[in-house]
Amino acid sequence: MSPGKDGRKVAIVDTTLRDGEQTAGVVFAKSEKIRIAQMLDEVGVDQIEVGIPVMGGEEMEAVKAIARLGLRASLMAWNRAVVSDVEASLACGVDAVAISISTSDIHIQHKLKASRQWVLDATARAVELAKRNGLYVSANAEDASRTDPYFLAEFIRVARQAGADRIRYCDTVGILDPFRTCDLVKELIYTQGIDIEMHTHNDLGMATANALAGVRAGATYVGVTVNGLGERAGNAALEEVVMALKYTMDLDLGLDTRRFRELSEYVARASDREIPPGKAIVGSNTFAHESGIHTDGTLKNPRTYEAFNPEEVGLERQIVIGKHSGSRAIMNKFKEYGVFLTEKEAAALLPQVRALAIELKRPLFDKELAYLYSAHVRARPEKSAVGTIGREGR
Ligand code: MN
Repeated sequence: MSPGKDGRKVAIVDTTLRDGEQTAGVVFAKSEKIRIAQMLDEVGVDQIEVGIPVMGGEEMEAVKAIARLGLRASLMAWNRAVVSDVEASLACGVDAVAISISTSDIHIQHKLKASRQWVLDATARAVELAKRNGLYVSANAEDASRTDPYFLAEFIRVARQAGADRIRYCDTVGILDPFRTCDLVKELIYTQGIDIEMHTHNDLGMATANALAGVRAGATYVGVTVNGLGERAGNAALEEVVMALKYTMDLDLGLDTRRFRELSEYVARASDREIPPGKAIVGSNTFAHESGIHTDGTLKNPRTYEAFNPEEVGLERQIVIGKHSGSRAIMNKFKEYGVFLTEKEAAALLPQVRALAIELKRPLFDKELAYLYSAHVRARPEKSAVGTIGREGR
């Protein structure tokens, strides 16, 4: 596989269906896995990590069913560096496998209770088997970020000798920062000259930043999940990585980002994990404005307070009327209903809007605004003079 579809410099590898589902308490039904794979394919990700065939049962059936869909994306199955895992993947009809093994001493000694040499031998065996059967292979260095650099280099040499196409650099416990990531990955690419996939976790809140740092260092693949779903604090989020590559590194991967919110909502439902309102890119609050100054600026020119247009990720701009609203926003809100307030009228309504928002401890619904407005009209001696009700004249 080239770094990306359509000659992209960076390929997106989505692992919502594997690392995302590994999140404690998350289970996808087979039908949900199929739907998520279809949506990811339609959105345009390059490779989908579909699951773990050796688990058997419905997991294996789901991988087989996704492989039968004939999607454009490459389909990768996840394996331990174990022959039976690779055999199970071969039975599913995928075109790619991830062969994963721990490379850090803490994992080798305490989890695997094995030696470095055992790790190298197991890797070589599993990678060779997959390559003999014509699969694309990512050799995953689990806990790479805590691995002795000399041993990591040796692991890469052995994996490559066995035929591995790329290395997945896993910051398994999320302890990297972007500066260190950039140094480490740059050195690896310089000395090993192999394709690197960044696989980052969000334990310190830097999964997206570290993924981008890896790309800056020359990594050509980025592993992500929808909504950043994943073990503990999660993985780098698909929607964050794609938009951040576009707006900070001028790397537009050409994905159909307008479907991000829809995809995000579907995965939120399937995983029973709500999208936090302030979630970057897809949160419901990301294009909501309430404060008077921000709203006024946004209404004059959205670029004043928005990094990009909400439509680009399938959201809509919302002007929220509440405690921090100004008269400009109130005029604009009423205009949506064909009521044209003067500045003076809007200013007169403002204290009542604020008082009610404070009393209710939330922004106001349109209906509540309508009540305030009609009360205001009734309270005035020259009732009909407030506002102009009707269609906007052209
Ligand atoms: Mn992971």
